[in-house]
Amino acid sequence: MKAFSYGRARSLADAAATANKPGFKIIAGGTNLLDLMKLQVETPSALVDINRLPLDKIEETSEGGLRIGALVRNSDLAADPRVRQHYGVLSRALLAGASAQLRNKATTAGNLLQRTRCYYFYDITKPCNKRVPGSGCSALAGFNRIHAILGGSEACIATHPSDMAVAMRALDAKVETTDHEGRTRAIPIADFQRLPGRTPEVESALASGEIVTAVTLPPPPPGVQVYRKVRDRASYAFALVSVAAIVDSVRGRIRSARLAFGGVAPKPWRIAAAEQRLTNEAVGARSFDAAADAALEGARGAGANDFKIPLTRRTLHAVLGEITRI
Ligand SMILES: Cc1cc2nc3c(=O)[nH]c(=O)nc-3n(C[C@H](O)[C@H](O)[C@H](O)COP(=O)(O)OP(=O)(O)OC[C@H]3O[C@@H](n4cnc5c(N)ncnc54)[C@H](O)[C@@H]3O)c2cc1C
Ligand code: SF4
Repeated sequence: MKAFSYGRARSLADAAATANKPGFKIIAGGTNLLDLMKLQVETPSALVDINRLPLDKIEETSEGGLRIGALVRNSDLAADPRVRQHYGVLSRALLAGASAQLRNKATTAGNLLQRTRCYYFYDITKPCNKRVPGSGCSALAGFNRIHAILGGSEACIATHPSDMAVAMRALDAKVETTDHEGRTRAIPIADFQRLPGRTPEVESALASGEIVTAVTLPPPPPGVQVYRKVRDRASYAFALVSVAAIVDSVRGRIRSARLAFGGVAPKPWRIAAAEQRLTNEAVGARSFDAAADAALEGARGAGANDFKIPLTRRTLHAVLGEITRI
């Protein structure tokens, strides 16, 4: 690990001003950043610890939703009675991630901003456009079992590893931020993570010195909520494919549907056309297939990850079957 200095932010303004300096980096739970520093994938000259800032509350909003502070730990969020009762898809997605110890440290903002698990990104002896722009992508012609089938580019086919973000995408969350000049924004989660295009090193909509302060959830949508994660082990493994689904159906007819997919793209993947193929349709293989066709339009494997295309289809079928039987 390279030497670095460490300081605790005294206020949000202090954190944002310090994080705006070149080489400075925010640390929250540290469960991703410290691993990356040990491998010298990330080499900040200074860490700004925000753990003592008052960003650890879950509050009800006047609109009937929830405002989740950036420092709320994944375990606390999953266990919150309001989340369990009204946002079950989020609670389940969180509990499907990592391990209990990691979830006790991992924060809401850190989870959204965690970096890809692409093997070559973690190996500093290998070319990787995300780590060293312009160096090439080792995964394209390498081992790419965990990589993207949707939304990738010639520069990068890494996936975003968060489970929580997939549920938040289905829930239409907004990410609240503040910057070093005190300006605030609310970024729809659909725009928060970026597709790689030619600049895979730019992963989120955050500007330099911009800090996530909270994530807001609108009032819960109608319907049954399910999160299903398919992985190599039953626990402590990242998603190969995951589906967050919220479906409102009555007497065999679907009134509304929201579908977000994880493990398949550089950001949580949500396609309006897939949801439209279910809306006002009868429950059954025909509508489920039509939704899968729309969700997978343009899907392309890179070899070892080809299996994700049929796996996504089967997982969606299984989830829709489960939801519409409830
Ligand atoms: C072995 C292992 C297994 C895992 N399995 C899963 C899994 O199955 N599913 C899953 O979803 N995740 C999994 N994770 C990832 C884990 O969820 C993340 O490491 C964690 O959520 C990151 O949160 P953190 O608070 O520790 O972030 P940190 O490591 O502290 O920070 C991560 C990044 O976010 C930035 N950051 C943090 N807070 C802010 C803020 N408020 N504003 C701006 N920038 C900020 C940091 O600068 C850093 O770049 C796993 C991790 C490990 C180590
Ligand atoms: S897929 Fe992306 S992260 Fe992985 S080696 Fe290629 S450029 Fe790097």
